[in-house]
Amino acid sequence: MTDKIFLLPDNIANQIAAGEVIQRPASAVKELMENAVDAGSTAIHLILADAGKSLIQVIDNGGGMSETDARMCFERHATSKIKSIDDLFHIRTMGFRGEALASIAAVAQVELKSKRAGDEAGVYIEVENSVVKKQEPIATPTGTSIAMKNLFFNVPARRNFLKSNAAEMRHIVDEFTRVAMSFPHILFTLTNNGQQLFHLEAGSLKQRIIQLLGNNYNTKLVAVKEETDYMNISGFVGKPETAKKTRGDQYFFVNNRFIKSGYLNHAVMNAYQEMIPGDSFPMYVLFIDLDPTQVDVNVHPTKQEIKFEDERIVYAFVQAAVKHALAQFSVTPTLDFEL
Ligand code: ADP
Ligand code: MG
Repeated sequence: MTDKIFLLPDNIANQIAAGEVIQRPASAVKELMENAVDAGSTAIHLILADAGKSLIQVIDNGGGMSETDARMCFERHATSKIKSIDDLFHIRTMGFRGEALASIAAVAQVELKSKRAGDEAGVYIEVENSVVKKQEPIATPTGTSIAMKNLFFNVPARRNFLKSNAAEMRHIVDEFTRVAMSFPHILFTLTNNGQQLFHLEAGSLKQRIIQLLGNNYNTKLVAVKEETDYMNISGFVGKPETAKKTRGDQYFFVNNRFIKSGYLNHAVMNAYQEMIPGDSFPMYVLFIDLDPTQVDVNVHPTKQEIKFEDERIVYAFVQAAVKHALAQFSVTPTLDFEL
């Protein structure tokens, strides 16, 4: 009898692996925007056609790539962000798996332009089905532009699973909002089918919250700030009257990474206690910073779930910090009155 096991060709292995990282246009938006942030950009432009189904392009003014790096970046497990397993526990960048661009190149037609500040010419590369189709020097500004066209053109089963443009756009705006919220000192724009939906000038976190969540928060934010040797928390929570019946404006970032945590959400809810009706949800945008050795971000490919080394300390700290901020805010009217 003959043997039965074959190694899958690279492009098929990449397509399969891509399913974990790139489920829909919004996942590609997240990966490309995070790469632009990691590259040290001060301005990041997201350009879409058909809610990302035909085009997702991210243009940044970050560090750019050399000719060799521009080819290498499409290889699986190719990353400039970690070199050893030890680095994984000191991670300060958004990326580190070296999987996003390999995945994207497996399921879309990709055109990359990049130039580093000191280089005379930039590099242009076209990739399709994980294969480089074209490479040539090009005049281009310092930074990187990655355009991915016709997502899942070669995986019809997955393309058929995409939702309506309106639904895909909602997912994209969610991801865009999370990244933009986390980096208020970076300018971001979002354009779909030629229509500019966001133009977020660089500024403070408070300005960014107002740009993204609405002007009504202007006088309704309570600052949260506590520091200890173990961790820091900063950001804003909404005054109790801004609590809504639907969970919506709630953002937790750990070392600048957006995370979902029912556990930490509970800590904030607890801090509000009697201040809001039991069936309503407070607004919060909170940044937790702690030593990267105290968090494991490598639990899930999209990195939205993380594990804390000591969950109970984080819970108690978040609850106390929010409670403290709310208590200070609620005594202020009395002080005003006495003045
Ligand atoms: P990761 O971000 O996990 O390292 P990616 O596949 O997203 O993996 O990217 C691979 C590498 O390509 C990055 O480590 C980085 O060196 C380079 N790269 C990707 N996007 C950009 C960009 N916008 N500007 C500069 N370098 C980039
Ligand atoms: Mg990346």
